[in-house]
Amino acid sequence: MSRITAIHASHVIGYNGVEHRHIEDGVVAYEGDTITWVGPHSEWTPPPDCTVLEAPDRLLTPGLINMHAHISGSPLDKSFIEDVGRRQFGMSGLFEMLPARSGAQDDEGTRACLDFSSAELLMSGTTTVFSMDLMPEYNMERAAEIGLRMYVAPAFRSGRWYTPDGVQVLYDWDEQAGLDGLSRAVQFIERNDGAYDGLIRGMLCPMQIDTCTEDLFRRACDAARDLDVPIQTHASQSVVEFREMERRHGRTPIEWLLDIGFLGPRGPQAIVGHGIFPNSHSWINTLGNDIEILGDAGASVAHAPWVFARRGIVMESFADYLDAGVNMSIGTDTAPQTMLEAMRWAAVLGKVTGRDAARSTAAEVFKAATLGGAAALGRDDLGRLAAGAKADILFWDIGSVWMAPFRDPLKNLVYSAREEDLRTVVINGRTVMDERLIPAVNMEQLSANLQASGQRLWDRIPQADWAEREVDELSPPSLLRWGE
Ligand SMILES: [Zn+2]
Repeated sequence: MSRITAIHASHVIGYNGVEHRHIEDGVVAYEGDTITWVGPHSEWTPPPDCTVLEAPDRLLTPGLINMHAHISGSPLDKSFIEDVGRRQFGMSGLFEMLPARSGAQDDEGTRACLDFSSAELLMSGTTTVFSMDLMPEYNMERAAEIGLRMYVAPAFRSGRWYTPDGVQVLYDWDEQAGLDGLSRAVQFIERNDGAYDGLIRGMLCPMQIDTCTEDLFRRACDAARDLDVPIQTHASQSVVEFREMERRHGRTPIEWLLDIGFLGPRGPQAIVGHGIFPNSHSWINTLGNDIEILGDAGASVAHAPWVFARRGIVMESFADYLDAGVNMSIGTDTAPQTMLEAMRWAAVLGKVTGRDAARSTAAEVFKAATLGGAAALGRDDLGRLAAGAKADILFWDIGSVWMAPFRDPLKNLVYSAREEDLRTVVINGRTVMDERLIPAVNMEQLSANLQASGQRLWDRIPQADWAEREVDELSPPSLLRWGE
């Protein structure tokens, strides 16, 4: 006999088939991994075989879809990558800081990051994550063990960038490595797509527009079509990359993605990671119509505002992309890996750059973090609380110091909530976090492992940095030490 679980909550963000709606005194019922009923309590008839959980001080929302993450390294950004930037790299951390960090990271550090990140994501409301990472098998097993829904993308590329002198950005090519990486990614997807009760899905990720050849992109697009999986690449993510694509092809990055067939045929399942530097961005300011191209192609952008805002870079503006018809989704990219902050930065910076308080609203960024992500993944059963959707449910405490007074659930969530206000998480019908406890996760141990990994990494920075600098030189401490 199957069992239905029904949660009777004071507030529910339900989906009516078209959009999210606020239900006061609502019910969400699910059986196995699937939601069977959502609506007002007054309209609900309890089925015979049903367990009712009373949640009088809870807001139920769909789980958040994190469309851009590098969980095998991002926790080690902390305490290192902030408050520095070179103007000749357009303030991007890609060419100096990231190679130093990843070059100094060891396998134990990668495992520590993966262990830590899965828990961090769950504790901050991500129920589905698009993860472009090292060690995909280990990552997949860890995610499944704690019950996270994950699109695993073993990323690949035909080359890498480097700087020999802190001024130029050069490229080191190995086309065969790119082709081999694509084959491995395809094999990974064929082996694992749908594993662990469907929690694990595959995805293709030619890593960056400027590190993959046209041939590799075309093959990856064909493979994504054949496997019917989404595809994401980093593009329009730095001034350096924009100028490099102009230099190589006389095209903007977005124009080139259209030229080679990345944009268009797969609609929203062609995902541009970042897309923050279209031709119209004030730091680029050249002819073109990149945002319109993205909108006309029905493409998705995975917008990760914090990793850029931290370096003084903003999207201009979130609302303009929406107006052009771009399917906007949200990601965390760096540390902290919390979708609450990602939504907050997207909304606030959208207002700052759009010079309009009535756009880049809580509703718009919440939609991007739920329905937008689902569209990018080609899933009409995620990002919503509706009959037939997967039971991915967040329980928020509406009486907390951060949430009171409570009138508008999305405004409170986007502008005021703290991660601690998220009490319980259900994914695929399974309670994976209960009153902030994740079974089988010892957070103290995970933090200790990460600390040790950071220590080893910081010691090895001189071996990975192009100028062989100590960590304190590359990333100066905020304060002098006592006695200095
Ligand atoms: Zn990224």
